[in-house]
Amino acid sequence: MLQDQIKTRPRCPKCNKPARLIDRVWRMQTRSYVRVYKCDCGELIWDD
Ligand SMILES: [Zn+2]
Repeated sequence: MLQDQIKTRPRCPKCNKPARLIDRVWRMQTRSYVRVYKCDCGELIWDD
């Protein structure tokens, strides 16, 4: 379970480190949650 979560974490385009999940935002257009990840360097990654 924990392994799966780590595998699906997107990597930061700037420093190539795995980002951590910080939030989930409801998107009306797709009627689904968009996961928001943040890297240690401050880069935000929207998983949509
Ligand atoms: Zn980064």
